[in-house]
Amino acid sequence: MPPLAQLNDISKRFGNTQALRGVSLDVEAGTVHAVVGENGAGKSTLGKVLAGLYAPDDGEILVDGQPTGRWSVNRAQDHGIVMIAQELSLVPQLTVAQNIFLGLERNVLGLLTGSLRARYDALESTVQFGLDPNVKVEQLKIAEQQKVEILRALARDARVLILDEPTSSLTGHETEQLHATVRSLVAGGTAVIYVSHFLDAVLEVS
Ligand code: ADP
Repeated sequence: MPPLAQLNDISKRFGNTQALRGVSLDVEAGTVHAVVGENGAGKSTLGKVLAGLYAPDDGEILVDGQPTGRWSVNRAQDHGIVMIAQELSLVPQLTVAQNIFLGLERNVLGLLTGSLRARYDALESTVQFGLDPNVKVEQLKIAEQQKVEILRALARDARVLILDEPTSSLTGHETEQLHATVRSLVAGGTAVIYVSHFLDAVLEVS
């Protein structure tokens, strides 16, 4: 079986800054890949190229061994590659469930009933976050909002989850919880790319 995702010889420059030069990475299902380095090393750029946020200047991206051609956030999501950025992208005034299914469900602004509730419960049974689906996201702590982001990605059938500095706003306990989540996702076959400049965190989880 080919790797879920492959970066082959990727380069990316911003003006005079060569952020990535000839980077290759194979991402297999059910693995954690740590991307470590000091600030400015190009870690976020690598994640953003794979997630379709930045177009590489050179190199190619393959999914399931197939060349991807034109790459974008939407194409990456269609292939199950989702990045959770440091700046979370939730709508604070909407509930947990509304945020998770936003854009996937036409009736998401209504009550969480019937099939949506069943889908939420199915997601929850895989991760066991224990979030209240009806609470507004603005009432949640950062660590809980991060969990909503992860559920949002899983609702889109994410197979490769890119976490960019996920512990920067978390307490020690919350970091442990996040790592437990990463381990259970990986045990279920998800691939995680874990971007961090905290070597301790990376060694614990990858
Ligand atoms: P890291 O995540 O390892 O801290 P980044 O990937 O954010 O590093 O940045 C790598 C280099 O590319 C840095 O020098 C940064 O300033 C530059 N860079 C990143 N994104 C942009 C951008 N959108 N425009 C200009 N320069 C950028």
